[in-house]
Amino acid sequence: MPYVFGPVPSRRLGLSLGVDLIPPKTCTFDCLYCQVGKTTTKSLMPEAHVPVAAVTEEVRRKLLKRRPDVITLAGSGEPTLHSGFGRVIGAVKDMTDIPVALLTNGSLFWKDEVRERALGADIIMPTLTSARETTFQTIHRPHPELRLDRIVSGLKRLREEYTGRIFLEAVFLAGINDTDEEVSALRDLIVGIAPDKIQINTVVRPPADAKARSLDRKRLEEIKVALGEKAEIVAEVLPKGQAGKAGRAAEDVLEMLTRRPLRQRDVEKALDLGAEAAADLLKGLLIKGYVRQQNHGGEIYYLPPGRNEREAKNPSP
Ligand code: SF4
Repeated sequence: MPYVFGPVPSRRLGLSLGVDLIPPKTCTFDCLYCQVGKTTTKSLMPEAHVPVAAVTEEVRRKLLKRRPDVITLAGSGEPTLHSGFGRVIGAVKDMTDIPVALLTNGSLFWKDEVRERALGADIIMPTLTSARETTFQTIHRPHPELRLDRIVSGLKRLREEYTGRIFLEAVFLAGINDTDEEVSALRDLIVGIAPDKIQINTVVRPPADAKARSLDRKRLEEIKVALGEKAEIVAEVLPKGQAGKAGRAAEDVLEMLTRRPLRQRDVEKALDLGAEAAADLLKGLLIKGYVRQQNHGGEIYYLPPGRNEREAKNPSP
């Protein structure tokens, strides 16, 4: 799979070129609502997971073809677990004036070196779901050494040192962190972090764990009012009708998947795409949770996320 995918339409940023620095699925958390799947390597130790020079070269090649609205470090795991993510930001900033965003769960900013690496980003997008330790543990199933107060103190220190924009994502799950008491405690905690925006989200596609259930629009609106004027509901942007050619190709793949599982070569043939473009498109859809992968007979098939595992065993030719 390539390190760089898209551009794909992002609910929060517009047309986003994704940079994936982490092997699936390496993270500090194992969130109930994760769309990438269950965490297989839970770690707090940043490592050089993929070569920085190869990643930046891939970004350079991509930018020759298309200009996205933003370049986003995101992907198959937690990007701050790459020890060189700051160098990737620096190299991308040297080659373009397109803003660079860091999509992160925000769990490692208590480490001085991690905050320092993030300072070059134009937008930092951390997540915070609760002011209560037990709720935090329920939702994120973090590495055993991670506690909420440690994470919150890291976010406050980041705010003190970082002059760019912080868009804080608050993810709400029905029956877990959606009570008035939870929302009010979270609002008080967020005041101390002083983000530029609070982006309210819920589960919009089938998540890693069926316990993660979405909120309806009415409750999201109530929470928006409770969180104050910086809050906005992050509207769902399915690829339908969006983002020109890239959106249409994604739309075509999703439509075909309603009928049968597909391999990458099926996508290449159906959409008349080269191998790189098809891999790219599928990776973007995979990371954003629109599709999932399944290995059958040594071949990788792509399926809609909610579809039964058994269906890939009888794929149409
Ligand atoms: S949602 Fe993000 S932070 Fe949570 S497990 Fe998935 S990749 Fe990690």
